[in-house]
Amino acid sequence: MSEVEAAANYRHIREELPEAVTLVVAAKGRRSEQIRRVIEAGAKIVGQNYVQEAEGVMAALGETAGRAEWHMIGHLQRNKVNTALELFDAVQSLDSPRLARAINRRADEPVRCLVEVNIAGEESKYGIPPEEVEDYLRQVGSMENLQVEGLMTMEPYFENAEDARPYLRRMRALFEQARALELPGIRMEVLSMGMTNSWRVAVEEGATMVRIGTAIFGPRR
Ligand SMILES: *Cc1c(COP(=O)(O)O)cnc(C)c1O
Repeated sequence: MSEVEAAANYRHIREELPEAVTLVVAAKGRRSEQIRRVIEAGAKIVGQNYVQEAEGVMAALGETAGRAEWHMIGHLQRNKVNTALELFDAVQSLDSPRLARAINRRADEPVRCLVEVNIAGEESKYGIPPEEVEDYLRQVGSMENLQVEGLMTMEPYFENAEDARPYLRRMRALFEQARALELPGIRMEVLSMGMTNSWRVAVEEGATMVRIGTAIFGPRR
């Protein structure tokens, strides 16, 4: 897909999304020039899955990189935490106690994070099991250098997005339950869910943030 098409796709999705819903451009595997055009078209947040790739893209973009926030949305290896903290404005993939401790130890100011939930208990996915989320929030709520702002999930993929609805609805319920606990050190304001195939349903089910790649950039090669 050309840079111009990617920018147009971004604008169309942004127009269709309710204003209150935040759009994260999921940019793994995309060329820097495509990402540049999407930032120039107004994208405020770019998501990356790999620390090294993000580093390369940001270097290639130069000053343009500074016009967007950068969020880590992929699994973060503990040996990459230092570099990740230099590059990213937020980590959406807080997915284990050990990662939380590593970030807390190495950061020198609170890092904005979302707790990733493995909502369907899939073997192939990272994330905290739903039934352990409350405990996990209690743990990370006491960590000085973590500022948890909400929950994130990568719900199972279905060709028919309606099939994802029960999982998205379960996430919303978990989010509301977590919010009602009013745990110390935890904000429950962001619910990041919904991708190319599912974002419309995710918004109907209460997502405050969606992460979209393919619908902007086209299929990955
Ligand atoms: C790739 C990715 C997305 C976007 O997926 P698309 O189907 O390409 O829109 C969202 N979130 C995460 C964590 C991803 O890795």
